[in-house]
Amino acid sequence: MPDRIPMKNAIVEIDGDEMTRVLWSLVKEKLLLPYIDLKTEYFDLSLGNRDKTDDAVTQESAHAIARLGVGVKCATITSNMDRKKEYGLKTLTPSPNATIRATLDGTVFRKTISVQGIQSTVSTWKKPIVIGRHAYGDIYKNTEMLVPGPGKVELVYTAEDGGEKRLLVVDMKGSGIVQGIHNLDASIKNFARACFLYALDEKIPVWFAAKDTISKTYDGRFKDIFNQIYETEFKEKCKEAGISYFYTLIDDAVARVVKSEGGFLWACKNYDGDVMSDMIASASGSLAMMTSVLVSPSGAVEYEAAHGTVQQHYYRWRKGEKTSTNPTALIFAWTGALAKRALLDGTPELNAFAKKLENATIKAIEEGEMTGDLARLVSPAPSKILDSWEFVDAITKRL
Ligand code: NAP
Ligand code: MG
Repeated sequence: MPDRIPMKNAIVEIDGDEMTRVLWSLVKEKLLLPYIDLKTEYFDLSLGNRDKTDDAVTQESAHAIARLGVGVKCATITSNMDRKKEYGLKTLTPSPNATIRATLDGTVFRKTISVQGIQSTVSTWKKPIVIGRHAYGDIYKNTEMLVPGPGKVELVYTAEDGGEKRLLVVDMKGSGIVQGIHNLDASIKNFARACFLYALDEKIPVWFAAKDTISKTYDGRFKDIFNQIYETEFKEKCKEAGISYFYTLIDDAVARVVKSEGGFLWACKNYDGDVMSDMIASASGSLAMMTSVLVSPSGAVEYEAAHGTVQQHYYRWRKGEKTSTNPTALIFAWTGALAKRALLDGTPELNAFAKKLENATIKAIEEGEMTGDLARLVSPAPSKILDSWEFVDAITKRL
């Protein structure tokens, strides 16, 4: 294919598991390779290969993103005991996303893909709600223990100069559980900076919420650092741009979000962001219509779909069914990465292609050619529900 669009530098391509892995090669074969002379550094993060390499492949892929500046990732299975049995694993490897986030110390921004005719379940939402998820620490980098019986649990800090601080967690009267979590001032500062920079780019206000009434020191620190970064580095810029910042308690934020019009960045701690982005995604329509981008303070970025590997569809596909799994967020992960590569390399032709592919995808849906998850949301219902392969053909027709 002689006249494909050239690429100057490679992007990191991270392959994954189950149904999204099936769609990954479909999207590449039908929507990318015919048009682009695709340059990627490929990493196979399928569960089996992570197990085989003792998870070294995950670390390597994260470092490659730091080096090349742009990555695109397929959904991956986070292993648990069921998966250990299913795949005959040696060990349980950590969540690849948590490893990549920890290595890049990034903030994850999740945003829904808007399509005309698809109404949000929350009727007041008129504009997208972007979730800014802190991607370091808390329970995603925890140390936990089953406590077998009565005894004292303590927090001990040993300073480099040998000084010590000790706090009683609990005097346990019986068996139970305990976990230690942490965060770093530097990471929280970068999180706050990433959020204000994103908001200034998009010209949207910033909300931040935590639970500092209960967690006075831990969540209190998040609140103080966020305020400090706003006051010292962003207040003037935000005023000039007409952007507001406000802090509230997480439960108050949840209540306000549901009554809001949308159109803001909701900065969330790691766990809150994990849970709330699924809520926003499914209330906005379908999990398959939300993209996710990890922005590291060094400027490196990784794009992915917000949804998982769509396990149940995969089992049906293996039995021979052509499932109606929606590849839109996967396609937008690729277009996000290609457009970023184009921006960094100064290759407008590649950027134009990324936009064309996005437009063709949205156009197909708006013209009534869509997968089952979306067909449920539009009225009148489309005359035919497409399977993933037919939907990709509908996009190709418009490219
Ligand atoms: P999921 O893959 O997000 O799917 C949950 C349900 O949402 C599906 O059963 C399906 O509903 C719907 N859905 C999600 N994506 C869809 C799409 N593209 N098109 C149509 N429907 C879609 O979550 P899961 O099945 O609970 O998790 C499966 C695996 O994914 C787990 O092993 C988990 O560890 C992993 N995971 C990975 C990531 C990541 O790598 N970023 C994120 C989350 C989860 P219906 O069945 O009703 O059609
Ligand atoms: Mg989640």
